Amino acid sequence: MKKISMIVPCYNEEENVKLFFKDVLKTYKDNKKYNIELIFIDDGSKDNTLKMLKEITKDKTFKTKVISFSRNFGKEAVIYAGLKESSGDYTVLIDADMQQPPSLTIKMAEILDKDLDCDCVCYYQNSRIEGKSISKIKSLFYKVMNKFSEVELKQGASDFRMFRNNVKEAILSLDEYCRFTKGIFSWVGFNTCYLPYVPNERANGTTKWSPLKLFKYGIGGVMSFSTTPLRLATIIGFGLSFFSLFYLIIIIIQKLFFGIDLPGYPTIITCVLLIGGIQLFCLGIIGEYIGKMYLEAKNRPIYIVKEKISNDKKSI
Ligand code: UDP
Ligand code: MG
Repeated sequence: MKKISMIVPCYNEEENVKLFFKDVLKTYKDNKKYNIELIFIDDGSKDNTLKMLKEITKDKTFKTKVISFSRNFGKEAVIYAGLKESSGDYTVLIDADMQQPPSLTIKMAEILDKDLDCDCVCYYQNSRIEGKSISKIKSLFYKVMNKFSEVELKQGASDFRMFRNNVKEAILSLDEYCRFTKGIFSWVGFNTCYLPYVPNERANGTTKWSPLKLFKYGIGGVMSFSTTPLRLATIIGFGLSFFSLFYLIIIIIQKLFFGIDLPGYPTIITCVLLIGGIQLFCLGIIGEYIGKMYLEAKNRPIYIVKEKISNDKKSI
């Protein structure tokens, strides 16, 4: 019997965790092929999620662990913590909000059983259920990311993945503080099989991703796997210097050979503002990278555990 470790990030999901558990019970209770280990990570929820999770651990059908963080560290930290706790033959990442049906994990496991060349199975959304503008921003992000970074991301690929232990170990070996899991999965390589799916609507509650949070996540992603923005600063600087030199030559020729005077004030103000703006933009890019280096150099832990509960005392 193969063991599947399910990592379930939970942040303010009090209304969803029990529904999720029920669905897992329905899917795996009588399954003779796979044994489940549930790893719920409570990412500093402010509602009753932790209480609900503790109640779930009273059910002894599956080995169930609950790891509660001291505050909200974000889904990337949750995934890292979950991977450290996972002990199955396969590990799967699945959200607690029921957008990703637990029943689909059986298909993932069967693919890994059958196709020994496939190390990771990933569901991707071939039609998006979110608003048009968010979906356009996401699609632009994938294009930018694929063009400028050293990793190749599949459009719509979610974190809903199941993988073997070789992939798990590789991901754990990347213990950087500023984590971008989608990029990390691509960076470590291995063979990934993609399956299309249409996510369900969220069972209860709202998404934790505001447009601003998504924007920050996108910028962080590009910067984690690409130094192209830094090169962009060099290219803009080079282009501007070249343009100014060219313009200077034109002015000299106009003045010396044709006696044309240039209106000084507007020209100077426009140039000063343009160059000032570009310099600030480039400084900003450099600053962002220095900020990331600062965070990495401090070497702080990726997450802090407040409490660990398990219905299998041996495994705490
Ligand atoms: N989540 C988390 N920490 C956070 C934000 C989200 O653990 O800071 C969890 C959340 O509880 C859910 C999963 O990550 O199980 C996906 O979050 P969400 O549904 O908000 O994202 P979306 O599906 O809209 O991309
Ligand atoms: Mg969701």
